[in-house]
Amino acid sequence: MMYQNAVAISHELVSRHVRPGDTVVDATAGNGNDTLFLVNLVGELGKVYAFDIQQCALEQTALRLERAGVLERARLIHDGHENMKQHVTPGVRAVMFNFGYLPGGDHSLYTRPQTSIAAVEAAMELISDDGIVMLAIYSGGDTGFAERDALLSYLRQVDNHSYSVLLHDFINYPNCPPLAVSITRCPK
Ligand code: SAM
Repeated sequence: MMYQNAVAISHELVSRHVRPGDTVVDATAGNGNDTLFLVNLVGELGKVYAFDIQQCALEQTALRLERAGVLERARLIHDGHENMKQHVTPGVRAVMFNFGYLPGGDHSLYTRPQTSIAAVEAAMELISDDGIVMLAIYSGGDTGFAERDALLSYLRQVDNHSYSVLLHDFINYPNCPPLAVSITRCPK
C-alpha cells in the first residue's frame, strides 16, 4: 500500500472498489498508464471506456494496451469527458480523472475548469451505489491554479446527503503537490 502521491492514492482507492468483470471509465487517457491499470483490474470480462481530446494520446494508449495484449478490454473514445454520458451507460464502478496536460505532449492542451466540472458531475451520476469517482488535481506551473480552485469550490458545495467528498492533501510537501479527491455515494 502506498500513499506517497495523488496517483498512488487514486490507484489504491480505485482498486478497493473495482472487481473483475466491472465497467469503468478513464476520463483522461493521456499516455495510457491509468487505462492499463484499469484494464488489469477489470480483467478479461470487464470493460474500460477511455476518453481523450487528443488523437495522439489515444494512439499512445492503444499502443500500451496492445503491447500488454489487453486492447480488446478498452473502448478508446476521441471526445471530451464532459460528453461521457453520451457514450457510457449508468452503473460504472469507477471513473478516474488525471487532470492537466499530456506529459511529453503539448502543454497548452490541458483540462479546463468548465469542462472538468461538467465531467465530474456526469461521472457522479454514472457511478453505481458502491462506485467511486477519483480525481488527481494538479496546480501551479503551466496550468496555474484556476482549475484546482474551480474544482474545489464546486466539490465543496456537492450535496452531502448524496455524496461524500474526501480531499487528500500532502500538507508537508513543498510547492503545490497534486491533490487526490475521492467521491463516493452516501448510503441510501
Ligand atoms: N491518465 C493519463 C496517464 O495515465 O497517462 C494522464 C492524463 S494527462 C495528465 C491529461 C489528459 O487529459 C491529456 O492527455 C489531455 O489531452 C486530456 N484532456 C484534456 N481535456 C480533456 C477533455 N475535455 N476530455 C478528455 N480528455 C481531456
